[in-house]
Order: sequence, then structure tokens, then C-alpha cells
Amino acid sequence: MNQITSLTNTAESLRNRILKHNQRSIRLASLLNTSQTTDIGRPIILDGYGRIHCFSELEKGDWITDPLPTIPASKRLKCNPELVRNARVLQLSACNLRCWYCFVDYDSLSPDSPSAKDYQISDIISSLTNNSTDPFVLDLSGGNPGLVPEWVWWTIKELQDQDIENVYVWVDDNLTVNFYSKYLSQNQIREIADYPRFGSVGCFKGFDDLSFSFNTGLVRELFNEQFAVFKDLLSFGWDIYGYVTFTTDIQSNIRRRIALFIDKLQDIDENLPLRVIPLEIKPYTPTRMRMNYSRELAIKVQYEALNYWNEEIIKRFPSDLINQPICDITYMSRGKSSGCS
Ligand code: SF4
Repeated sequence: MNQITSLTNTAESLRNRILKHNQRSIRLASLLNTSQTTDIGRPIILDGYGRIHCFSELEKGDWITDPLPTIPASKRLKCNPELVRNARVLQLSACNLRCWYCFVDYDSLSPDSPSAKDYQISDIISSLTNNSTDPFVLDLSGGNPGLVPEWVWWTIKELQDQDIENVYVWVDDNLTVNFYSKYLSQNQIREIADYPRFGSVGCFKGFDDLSFSFNTGLVRELFNEQFAVFKDLLSFGWDIYGYVTFTTDIQSNIRRRIALFIDKLQDIDENLPLRVIPLEIKPYTPTRMRMNYSRELAIKVQYEALNYWNEEIIKRFPSDLINQPICDITYMSRGKSSGCS
């Protein structure tokens, strides 16, 4: 069996264990008594099955600013960004990857974790909104929420059924499988795309096949699958963004490799690089236990890669476009405004 088939089989198996259709429930990881807890400076919510995370779009030290999801959310919710920086984050207790830099304990990426618990979507929404009309971001994270696209659709339906309009739904995807097409109907996908307070982000696990393989432990050939999945998600017409990590253990030709990565993004859409944010990899408590010489080196190399990324972006795009809010960058392939203003 090749690794693509094996990865998909793993994804199917995980999905079957964390999703209960008849109850509209998914399995969440507990944040209590994990090493991740040490890194969480914000309150834990939902009895330990959720957390508050500050997604700050403001300037930070050595790295590029990250407007996601705060800027799109604030536009969609028509409020000041500072009101929605503190997102409610839920972590699905399943992932079909094991990236070495993952800030989640590997135990929490398994449905078999003894502390993982099934939650009905209606209970999650009632508990998190609690009749408040304050705007907030609900981040469906993981793990890999792409395993259970029903989570997105159920959440949106529940918000609609309860007439809740102060919540922006944000979902991550590790770009390994397109289960939206497989498990949702065209109508359901369209309802997600039409929902006015929804955005998603696909995370590229490396900028070329070498860094992808280094970051995930998978064969290099799987690197290209991420672009295929991203292209599928983009075709659904919803507001989608990207993240990319720049960690690699091969230090040569990084400028050229970054340029080729941007070429590949532009093969999907000319403006896609302006909707992709490089993610800084930092040591967290769970990752400290996984560090070795190559990974220490990779953390250093990412800053060099970021410089090349910035140079290449300036070379390829006019400054007025670069300086636009990320959600106002239009996908050229959609032929009409895909921004959120
Ligand atoms: S895909 Fe995301 S959740 Fe899964 S191991 Fe990688 S970083 Fe962690």
C-alpha cells in the first residue's frame, strides 16, 4: 500500500471513531493535565475541552504579522479587531499527521485518548454563546477538522437555528484529504460557502517536498497533494486562506525553493501568495521532548526563508496590493470580488 492510500485510510478510520452522525457529535481533546496546558496562558473553557487563544494581528518581533483570523472575522462581524482577538478554540481529538512541531500533545491527537470526549454541536454552541451577544471567533481546530466536515456544517446550522449572528466560524485543515466533497452534499457545501461569517485556512506543511517530508515524516511525493486539496477547497467559493511553515533540515538553495513554492501557489491563483501567511515555529512544551539537532537547525533556518519570502512577495506584487487587508485580496480565478469588505 502506498503512503497516499495509507494516509487516506488512516483519515477514514479516525473519522469513524470521532463522529457520531445520529447525535451530531464530534470528539474533542481535553486540555487538562496535558503538557500543552503549560503553554496556555488564557483560561480553559468548556470544562477543559476548549481554550481562549489571542490571535493578535499586531506587529511582533522577528516574524511577519498574522492577520488570521482576526481581520476577516472583524470585517464579517463588523466590529473592531480587538473585540475578536480572543477566540474560543476547540481541538478535535484526531489527526492523521504527526508534525514534529505540533504544539499539541500527540496523545491529544488520538480518538483513543482516555480524556477525549464526545460533544454534541448544540451543547457546544449553547455553552459557548451562553446568550451573550458579544462577537467572537469560534475556531474549529485540532487535530485535523478536515476529517469531519460535518462539524463545520452542523455548527453553521446550529448557529442559524438559534439565530446567533455574533459568532464567526473559523476552521483549520491540514490539506491531506478532501472529505468535504466526499461526505457533504453540493447543497451543504454551498450553504457553508454562503454563510456570511465563515472562513477557513489550509496549512501547507513545508515549502517544498524536502521540508514537507522533514516536517511530517511522510514521503516527499505527498507534498503536491496539499495543492490539490487546497485547489478543491478554493473551488467551493468560500473565504479561504493559507498558512505555510518554513522549517527544513536542508539549508541549501532556500531562496530558489521559496520562489518555486510561490510559483506553485500562483499556479492555483495569481494572488494566492498574498492570502498565505508564513507561520513561525516556536518551541512549546510538547515539542521540547521531540527536539533534536536537525529540528533545532530548522527553527533557525525558517528566519532566512522568511526573508526570501518577503523579498519575493515584494518582487511579484505592487505595494498597494501587498498592503491591503488580507480579506480584501481578490482571488483572480474566481473572476469577482472574493474579499470580505
Ligand atoms: S496537522 Fe496540525 S494538528 Fe496535525 S500533527 Fe500537524 S500541526 Fe499537529
